[in-house]
Amino acid sequence: MTRKLIDTHFHFTDEPYFTNQQRTLINLKFAGVVNIISPSYNMESCHKNYNLKRLYPDLLVAYGIHPLFLPFDIAEIENLLITGNPSAVGEIGLDARNTTSSNSAQIDAFELQLNLAKTLKLPVIIHSVKRHAETLALLKKYLGLKGVIHRPSENWENMVRYTDLGYHVGLGSDLLHDGYKKVKTVAKKLPSRQILLETDLPYVPEFKKDPFGLMNYDDIVHVLSNLRQVKTSALIDQLWENTAALFNVKVN
Ligand SMILES: [Zn+2]
Repeated sequence: MTRKLIDTHFHFTDEPYFTNQQRTLINLKFAGVVNIISPSYNMESCHKNYNLKRLYPDLLVAYGIHPLFLPFDIAEIENLLITGNPSAVGEIGLDARNTTSSNSAQIDAFELQLNLAKTLKLPVIIHSVKRHAETLALLKKYLGLKGVIHRPSENWENMVRYTDLGYHVGLGSDLLHDGYKKVKTVAKKLPSRQILLETDLPYVPEFKKDPFGLMNYDDIVHVLSNLRQVKTSALIDQLWENTAALFNVKVN
């Protein structure tokens, strides 16, 4: 298979990848992955990504604070976004499972970061769990912003509201799960220009068994091409084009 994949959501700041950087990069290369976007979720992962970007200038990174990791200093995020060569702001959003921060604190944090994305003309990586009505209402206030809804677990009716607003949807590891029927239905029906490949490694249920062996991008591409009834080569080309367009990736 000729491959030129970019994993648009791979936590390089997290273990076992962070302490095995060379091994991780080599394994990704063998799996046909030419690049990754490493998102941040708290201040520590932001600073790790900042340093990784200096060490590996071709690596793509994003800075942002996830709703489970509030409060935070917006000036520090702004500084990283200005000085740290980001491809996106993220991951940011709303999470109904969060019991540590109030709704209004989550909304404030999300809006502050949406504002930064708008000012700095960067796409956003959105994490939204069971708070889609509020997430959509906020995104409607920032029309013109681009971004991806990361790892959806929602039904089609919810997801189509995001794609109607122009947002992309990240698909990956969950397609390999026997369950997750909603994700598969969504994966079938999404507009082809709005799909992205992502794994969210290492946060995949099967991960603990074999962290490095889990780089089964072939399987993901195979399942997705079957679901969408397109050839794998055409799917890979489409994913590449979509990623390049959203994240302003330069093609070597
Ligand atoms: Zn993530």
